[in-house]
Amino acid sequence: MAQKEIKVALIGNPNTGKTSVFNQLTGLHQQVGNYPGITVEKKIGVCKLSEDVKATIIDLPGTYSLNASSIDENVVIELLMNRNDENFPDVVVVVTEVENLKRNLLLFTQIKDLELPTLLVVNMSDRMQLKGIELDIPFLESELKTSIALVSSRKNIGIEKIKNLILNYQNLSTEPCLNASSIDVEYFDKLRKAFPNQLLYKLWLVITQDVNFLNLERKELKSSFTKSHADLKRLQQKETIKRYQFINDTLKIGQKIDRSKASDFRAKLDRVLTHKIFGYVIFFVILFGIFQSIFEWSKYPMDFIDSSFANLASYAKNSLPAGEFTNLISEGIIPGIGGILIFIPQIAFLFLFISVLEESGYMSRVVFLMDKIMRRFGLSGKSVVPLISGTACAIPAIMSARNIENWKERLITILVTPFITCSARLPVYAILIALIIPDEKLFGFMSLQGLTLMILYLLGFGVAIFSAYILNKILNIKSKSYFVVEMPSYKIPMFKNVAINVLEKTRAFVFGAGKIILALSIVLWFLGSHGLGKNFKNAEQIVKQQLDTKNVVYSQKYLDDQVSAYKLENSFIGIIGKSIEPVIKPLGYDWKIGIAVVSSFAAREVFVGTLATIYSVGSHSDEEDTIKNRMAAEVHADGSKIFNFPTGISLLLFYAFAMQCVSTLAIVKKETNSWKWPIIQLVFMSGFAYLTALLAYQFLK
Ligand code: GDP
Repeated sequence: MAQKEIKVALIGNPNTGKTSVFNQLTGLHQQVGNYPGITVEKKIGVCKLSEDVKATIIDLPGTYSLNASSIDENVVIELLMNRNDENFPDVVVVVTEVENLKRNLLLFTQIKDLELPTLLVVNMSDRMQLKGIELDIPFLESELKTSIALVSSRKNIGIEKIKNLILNYQNLSTEPCLNASSIDVEYFDKLRKAFPNQLLYKLWLVITQDVNFLNLERKELKSSFTKSHADLKRLQQKETIKRYQFINDTLKIGQKIDRSKASDFRAKLDRVLTHKIFGYVIFFVILFGIFQSIFEWSKYPMDFIDSSFANLASYAKNSLPAGEFTNLISEGIIPGIGGILIFIPQIAFLFLFISVLEESGYMSRVVFLMDKIMRRFGLSGKSVVPLISGTACAIPAIMSARNIENWKERLITILVTPFITCSARLPVYAILIALIIPDEKLFGFMSLQGLTLMILYLLGFGVAIFSAYILNKILNIKSKSYFVVEMPSYKIPMFKNVAINVLEKTRAFVFGAGKIILALSIVLWFLGSHGLGKNFKNAEQIVKQQLDTKNVVYSQKYLDDQVSAYKLENSFIGIIGKSIEPVIKPLGYDWKIGIAVVSSFAAREVFVGTLATIYSVGSHSDEEDTIKNRMAAEVHADGSKIFNFPTGISLLLFYAFAMQCVSTLAIVKKETNSWKWPIIQLVFMSGFAYLTALLAYQFLK
């Protein structure tokens, strides 16, 4: 028998526990995507109501009212206004929270005016006793013309009632709970006469919102009914006042609060956590902890994934019949997949911490604390987390920018985060610093090499902040900031919410950005292991001949290394590396460095491995010392050192600033929902890197 489907829209103010209700209703049956064309997250889940009826629940972004001031709110309005939308709901579930009913009900009364079957969820009922709150549910139901489910999503109470009410949604009232036309009787009368077939409140929303709703005679409406902007604003204010009057009157009878029970624990904790000094100290201690664990704890699973995939690759290579297909699998696909999965531990740890901070209510205090400082640079208080996590890896860091509601601030955060020194830059920095900076102490205690490393970190951070400042000035994106910094009460995080969030972020990465990373790593593998000319095809023969004519006695391993080097030199990447020599010469690089730069486009740390192959010293990083010696011994035709101070500094700067990371590009594409931003980022970062490297080399040489 075909299943009947009821479409449900879940709507509510931020922090009412809407996500928790959604998680309780749908469990893991969730799909996360984006609304077409914009970057607001779209979550849809399925909930079984009875044997043959299921509910498709769309979790709309948290919003304070239907007076749209952000893209998020537009999403809500557009869905509720457009009967032709495939997700247009049969029933609207408005989630409110028992401690903030007054504010939460504003949105509810607006939605009621759209005359859709609407039910009211009053969540966090477990806190009623603690806070001394009593509700007269039958009275509220009759005043608000709705059915109410008193719910605690934390304790899983009342969820069945929601399901039942949805199942029987035909019984829900569609009557508005106050009369919209009382805002301005004369004006609304005129409207009603001109459009007798349209819902009055819908017309009013179309007139007052600056968004393009489909299927409404907007032009006509606008031309004959537009008032001045100031008049409209005045009417909107009047509407809000009317609604609050109604809500106040209703709650006066329907809600009793025993003030003596309200504890001041929260106020005390707030004072400490947002304190001018302690606030920052506590925050940085927490950040430091998070940062340490992303580095330290993820190391073990990452090493495990790394070695498992290396083993798997060599197993595939040895057990499959030799040939092109086997190479594709063992050198392209398996390392490609490994290169995606390796990020999972860091992503999972970061989001574990972030969800706990969010869930506990602490994150709002951080935003309050950091907002003023960050806003000067066009960032948000919430940008601190991505910027700091960027020191481990830009991938989870960029994903964590999702918490930033304001699109412009979020975009700027995404664009500048890759400037932060990530851990993949470390091996490159390490070997270059060892080559060009003497192992000496400044003032007898400061290691020069350590100091250089620190300067590189600071440089990354400085350029990130500076670019944010510039981007804030030049990006012409209108997106209003949330003017309310909400301070939800402190709560113990709900395990289910944290777990679902971690799983969902990991899944989004693996299946979203993962595809692009895999595709690009296969392309780079192909370019690095294939070539056209005779030199590439007959590499082994040629190398053997060369060695024989020089009368060199060699082992098989030595021969293999020489052949790999020769092959790489004549592969497509080799050809590209050589052909860009004129471009990179002014930076102090030769074609070998060119090849390393091109192939490390996949990931920065590949730089060292590629140089190892080119200098044919085996391609494992534990042979770093040999590579270092080889690099130190490399000379130009005139006998001067290749890796001298100017070239070294130029390379350090290049790697500090260039967007040498396919995975970051992939995640930026995923998070911004277009190729435009990653391409701009690539061009800008690489251009900036080129310029600074050029200046440094020309100045120092
Ligand atoms: P959203 O912003 O509306 O999606 O809210 P969330 O679902 O993220 O929840 C906000 C906070 O309220 C989190 O800390 C949740 O753990 C907490 N929360 C959610 N439901 C309940 C509940 O029924 N009782 C209590 N005490 N806390 C809850």
